[in-house]
Amino acid sequence: MYPKIQMYIDGQWCAGSAGRVEPILNPATGQPIGDVPCAEIVDLQAAVDAAKKGFQTWRRTPAYARYKLMRAAAENLRNNADQTAHWITAEQGKPLAEARMETLLGADLIDWFAEEARRTYGQVVPARAGNIRQIVVKEPVGPVAAFTPWNFPINQAVRKISSALAAGCSIIVKPAEETPAGCRALVQAFAEAGLPDGVLNMVFGTPSQVSEFLISHPDIAKISFTGSTAVGKQLAALAGTHMKRTTMELGGHAPVIVFEDANVEKAAELLAAAKFRNAGQVCVSPTRFMVHESQYQAFVDRFSDIAQNIKVGNGADPDVTMGPLANPRRLEAIEGFVQDAVTRGATVRTGGSRIGNEGFFFQPTVLTDVPKDARIMNEEPFGPVVPITPFSSFDEAVAEANRLPYGLAAYAYTRSAQTAADIGAAFESGMVAINHHGLALPEIHFGGIKDSGSGSEGGSDAIEGYLNTKLITQASL
Ligand code: NAD
Repeated sequence: MYPKIQMYIDGQWCAGSAGRVEPILNPATGQPIGDVPCAEIVDLQAAVDAAKKGFQTWRRTPAYARYKLMRAAAENLRNNADQTAHWITAEQGKPLAEARMETLLGADLIDWFAEEARRTYGQVVPARAGNIRQIVVKEPVGPVAAFTPWNFPINQAVRKISSALAAGCSIIVKPAEETPAGCRALVQAFAEAGLPDGVLNMVFGTPSQVSEFLISHPDIAKISFTGSTAVGKQLAALAGTHMKRTTMELGGHAPVIVFEDANVEKAAELLAAAKFRNAGQVCVSPTRFMVHESQYQAFVDRFSDIAQNIKVGNGADPDVTMGPLANPRRLEAIEGFVQDAVTRGATVRTGGSRIGNEGFFFQPTVLTDVPKDARIMNEEPFGPVVPITPFSSFDEAVAEANRLPYGLAAYAYTRSAQTAADIGAAFESGMVAINHHGLALPEIHFGGIKDSGSGSEGGSDAIEGYLNTKLITQASL
């Protein structure tokens, strides 16, 4: 069922030239399900040559033709959603329903960016003299190098691929080697829609080697990365050395404030659904929960009860609502976060341990009495663990929410319009959601500030990251 994984360079599916491969593991079993090929420098150079050639073709392809082709690719992705969902579950672990939803949202994202291709408007600026015409136009920035992580094999790649293609750029994407099949499905959808050779290329390899080669290559104009803040800073520094444009979608540590007047029952349900989605391996996952002291006990009881009743198991089983962690690194990291918190005095309200010895399963976990210096209160946990603390005043909660250098997502629950307005303004964060978790839709901004990165991967701003602005001023003499 799991597909053969190959690279895609200049319209050809291919292996790495030295035949190097890495195993791909199913996180539910820990067993290999296939191999991913690794690129050598010569393969990366071939990808750059292809992207350079593809850019010349694609930049001249009218926006309307780009739009039509992208819509066809979206339809291809939709038509294969069931098969693709099985691939994603096998390589990443999330439940089939989540994998299917991710695939279908991927198709919606392509549709959105296809439409945006037709809206890269410029300006005509009134001139100071009658014989002068001043126009500002948007042009594609050039070949793009994109690096995407393993938590959403389609959705991280599709934002970069479709905004680049909509703008008229060519692209080389390096998905995470651990979860290559989601992006393979995307590439296939575009190839079958008739995308010209070289416009979209996919490589795998040793991440640092691939990124160093591509970011410093003179033919690559723009870098887009999603992943940890630590790696993002390294790549941004390298991009800066070579004066390359960047979009950086990095880690988060989303604060959650449940105010005194919140609908606590509803808040607990919605927060549990958001927290344990993809086993907490989501950059906008709600992370540091603060609950008003008057509602604290009721919230902890209800939230822990929901956490305890989550059905954890192999995501391929339709009854399962939370799959395993995606790789053994996460399991080790989550065990470390819990152990550290407990050592510093935290109470494990529910969960707290690995499940079984096969695969990378961890219990949905709720921690209380967690001191601020615990690692989980400062570092992105990226797993199904929730620290909950009480607060007494608005200012205290805001100070804690904004304490960390991250600024990706922030959440609040309140029934007061005034509190909602105040907290919306007070959060230092790229995205704020109040009384729900409706982030990441194609038509709305998606991006962080501070250490969470820069640029947008959603809404009408996203395509800007792939466009140059050019002034043409012309006098008639
Ligand atoms: P990591 O930071 O090494 O890797 C994260 C991603 O970046 C992977 O896909 C990896 O292949 C890629 N990567 C790593 N080094 C790279 C390099 N030099 N050049 C190009 N790509 C590189 O570690 P990890 O164990 O995979 O994840 C650890 C942390 O990363 C998580 O705890 C989480 O904080 C963060 N993360 C964030 C996101 C997100 O959506 N923002 C996604 C995945 C991981």
